[in-house]
Amino acid sequence: MSYKIACRDSGMDCAFCIESDDEKEVMKLARTHAADKHGMSVSDDDLRGLMQKPA
Ligand SMILES: [Zn+2]
Repeated sequence: MSYKIACRDSGMDCAFCIESDDEKEVMKLARTHAADKHGMSVSDDDLRGLMQKPA
């Protein structure tokens, strides 16, 4: 099990999903995606709220 963020979980109609063992990488890629594809800036807190953590 790894860290995971699904764009869909933020309420977007978007299939983008990131999964990695590196929490920082997941957050970085999610932030880049949100900015590039959705024109959104998201905070670390927002990303942590969306992130699924390893059990
Ligand atoms: Zn998206």
